Amino acid sequence: MGIAYLTGSGPGDLELLTLKANKIVQEADVIIYDRLANPDILKKAKSGCKFIYVGKEDGKHIIPQEEINEIIYKNTIENDIVVRLKGGDPFVFGRGGEEGKYLHDRGIDFEVIPGVTSAISVPAYAGIPVTHRGVAVSFKVITGHEAPGKEHSQIDWDSLKGDGTIIFLMGLHNLSKISRKLIQIGKPKDFPIAVISKGTTKEQKVVVSTLENIVKESKGLKTPALIIVGNVVKLRKDLDWFKSQKKSEQN
Ligand code: SAH
Repeated sequence: MGIAYLTGSGPGDLELLTLKANKIVQEADVIIYDRLANPDILKKAKSGCKFIYVGKEDGKHIIPQEEINEIIYKNTIENDIVVRLKGGDPFVFGRGGEEGKYLHDRGIDFEVIPGVTSAISVPAYAGIPVTHRGVAVSFKVITGHEAPGKEHSQIDWDSLKGDGTIIFLMGLHNLSKISRKLIQIGKPKDFPIAVISKGTTKEQKVVVSTLENIVKESKGLKTPALIIVGNVVKLRKDLDWFKSQKKSEQN
């Protein structure tokens, strides 16, 4: 019986992989992975390492979560080191908790290797700090997968009325509903919002706009994409340090 590592792969830039994740990926007998922001991580594996793709897109699982849990479990019984590799951090909308619990309930050892979550690092590469003295003293990371207006919504929209930064993951396809809902709870139509596509990679694209115009202006942006709402978005004009275009010319 082996051990399973619930491992974060970071947001896309290969160098944002932690030293700990880098080490365990090289030692792995089996790597069970999603559609990764950076598939180059898999090239680090030793020869003979088995790869199992259990991909999901925008929160929609191609393979049901229960089946993924079972795949991790079975492989950990049969191998020494199993790496369950997930985008960003495994416990931020990564269902790592469910996988850990499944293993725990069956007496299987596991460890968690946190990753650099897209929720913070993707805005950072777009020159947007999630908090800033005098501008935002808190931030919230919310699933954008749940359409606003849905019955029995688990999102407390009224709690988003304050000045805190709001970050939506998995929300690109609900962007129009999200921006409308934020106007409905009282945010001005010209309130700052940005959509960041393929953040931290050479293909990073950032659109800065207002709640009223963001849908029109961000047309064509591809997933994975993150939505960030708040006055911190305005700081980008001075903090836009990541020159993705220039970087791709060098490569
Ligand atoms: N566990 C992951 C999040 C999984 S949910 C983490 O901690 O980052 C998947 C969502 O993350 C995507 O729909 C998107 O909103 C966001 N995301 C992940 N990588 C991204 C990237 N490189 N650029 C923009 N958004 C990203």
